[in-house]
Amino acid sequence: MTERRLVIALDGPSGAGKSTAGRGLAERLGYTFIDTGAMYRALALKALRAGVATGDGEALASLLSRTAIALADAGRTVSLDGEDVSAAIRTREVSDAASRVAANGAVRRAMVERQQEMGRAGGVVMDGRDIGTAVFPGADVKFFVRADPARRAQRRHRELQAAGQAADLGAIEQDVRERDQRDTTRAESPLVRAADAVDVDTTDLRPDEVVERMLAIVRERSAVPAR
Ligand code: C5P
Repeated sequence: MTERRLVIALDGPSGAGKSTAGRGLAERLGYTFIDTGAMYRALALKALRAGVATGDGEALASLLSRTAIALADAGRTVSLDGEDVSAAIRTREVSDAASRVAANGAVRRAMVERQQEMGRAGGVVMDGRDIGTAVFPGADVKFFVRADPARRAQRRHRELQAAGQAADLGAIEQDVRERDQRDTTRAESPLVRAADAVDVDTTDLRPDEVVERMLAIVRERSAVPAR
């Protein structure tokens, strides 16, 4: 019997630990990890460089239609029209622009189409804000990942430091709160928990504990063998 390859949706606010958990979960299941935030970040970077306003949905959608975004190495490598932008999309400036770009309906519609195509065959763990509600409302398993805002800011701070971008913890906490506010209140696909999502609070869990917890739920739902 061929094993059914599932679609696993991971949603939640920034810095909740979705990518770390999603990457680990995908590895254990032999699935592809897709970081949809990186796609919005790549478009935001291109828009910033091209001088396209982050609020101009039509211009952004047109820019996107002429843009190749590829994710490789479990989302660690992101390429924009063939250029490796993995580090360039992680700055505070791009984080802020990505959340503005993502508020445009025309952009979301095109991104959602690309993401549905990427997950069509199953065998994916997809991380974002609207995966379980808009991209794959019929996903086999949905997780809603949270952590308290101070912890999320600490994680972002460590990531930025590791990338050689010194930043003040207070300013990052402020960024995280502003992005949350924008992501949850926008008119187009705001960040909301799908009614059938399983909640995972990562505040006091190590990354490996988060993965184990998710894996147990995936197995319970589907009897998928893990490596
Ligand atoms: O996940 P990450 O923080 O990298 O995403 C960057 C921004 O892209 C988020 O602040 C959010 O506004 C947007 N985003 C989105 N929908 C997704 C993934 C990300 O709106 N599926």
